[in-house]
Amino acid sequence: MINVAILGSTGSIGTSTLDVIARQSEKFKAFALTANKNVERLYDQCLKFLPQIAVMVDENSAYELQQRLKKNPETAHIRIYSGCQALNDVAAHEQVDYVMAAIVGAAGLNSSLAAARSGKRILLANKESLVMSGDLFMQAVKDNGATLLPIDSEHNAIFQSMPEKLNREGANAESHHSLQFSGVEKILLTASGGPFLNKTLDELEHVTPDQACAHPNWEMGRKISVDSATMMNKGLEVIEASWLFNASADDIQVVIHPQSIIHSMVSYNDGSVLAQLGNPDMRTPIAHAMAWPDRMDSGVGQLDIFKVAQLNFEQPDFKRFVCLKLAYDALREGGTAPAILNAANEIAVDSFLKGKISFIRIADIVEQTLNYIDSETADSMDVILAADNHARQVANNLCLGLGPQLT
Ligand code: NAD
Ligand code: MG
Repeated sequence: MINVAILGSTGSIGTSTLDVIARQSEKFKAFALTANKNVERLYDQCLKFLPQIAVMVDENSAYELQQRLKKNPETAHIRIYSGCQALNDVAAHEQVDYVMAAIVGAAGLNSSLAAARSGKRILLANKESLVMSGDLFMQAVKDNGATLLPIDSEHNAIFQSMPEKLNREGANAESHHSLQFSGVEKILLTASGGPFLNKTLDELEHVTPDQACAHPNWEMGRKISVDSATMMNKGLEVIEASWLFNASADDIQVVIHPQSIIHSMVSYNDGSVLAQLGNPDMRTPIAHAMAWPDRMDSGVGQLDIFKVAQLNFEQPDFKRFVCLKLAYDALREGGTAPAILNAANEIAVDSFLKGKISFIRIADIVEQTLNYIDSETADSMDVILAADNHARQVANNLCLGLGPQLT
């Protein structure tokens, strides 16, 4: 039996992971479930999956969960913890084999890193970990013999389309042959373009949070849904891909593909292009990473290629999707620039979701924050977290209509 810890079990990815586990219950056990403060959903998950451990970051929520679980003899054994440290402890727990890192945003960094440092198989959905601290993260994976498998559908597709020897060695291992040495010319990272693909800049001015969260093909949490609408999600994914596959910004081409049937492609020097296709359902990459190098049933139906009928591709428009350009720039700049980009984006998206700023201000705020704070060498977590913190304060000021300077 393989014990799985799901960090962020109440979210969109967490719920899909539990769905896969329920279908594969002879092989996998939900050993630990964690959430921020959604007591209702974590309670239901505990009743159904009977984990050994449940964590709620929020202390009051943990107390409430405990009161409810101890009343039921079936769930009275579940140990409940609260606070951020408990997330790291779960990720490093000696009985845990696989860690699904599915917390949203920078809040997922420490626990993902704890999983890497304890040599686990990491099923990485939390792309923000790699965006903020790619170098240190990949080093921790390598130094501790962890296995890093991408859950992000595009990266999972790239992984499946890469030469097998590269995957087995680990994307960033010292012995790693360069992409070019393996015949890889380019990574083609597909993007649906989100709900606003065909809107003009003027039209974008007045879009609401609910419109931004209504993704045409995928059902996701609100933060990543807004990121998809601005295409910052694709920008973060370019940075994520650069670390996972040891690729430069020039090695990665974003391709708009509105149907989300091809999840990404790898182009080789003999003219071959390998792609992974499937219905847009996150249970496919989740099941792939859990079963790898084998395959198992994920619950996702077979792709009906005749129904799909048509696949379209176009170049991204950097003028309308400024966030994508900012992310490429931050990747080329390196150091703490991606962490600054990510932090400013988290603040701006949160402000937009709360109705405090307009949609198109998100890109402005990220750009101004990047212009205001100099990038530094990202050689320690302290430096990265200081840059993250600084960027949050600057972006917060900008959202309030103040200048960037801190008082
Ligand atoms: P979500 O908002 O649906 O769920 C987030 C989860 O994180 C919840 O369980 C929540 O309780 C927990 N959480 C939130 N804030 C927290 C905090 N401060 N501390 C601890 N836990 C906290 O998000 P999601 O859509 O499932 O996305 C999760 C991650 O997966 C993100 O990094 C996202 O970019 C990535 N991802 C998601 C999808 C998707 O289809 N949803 C696809 C690819 C990648
Ligand atoms: Mg993705």
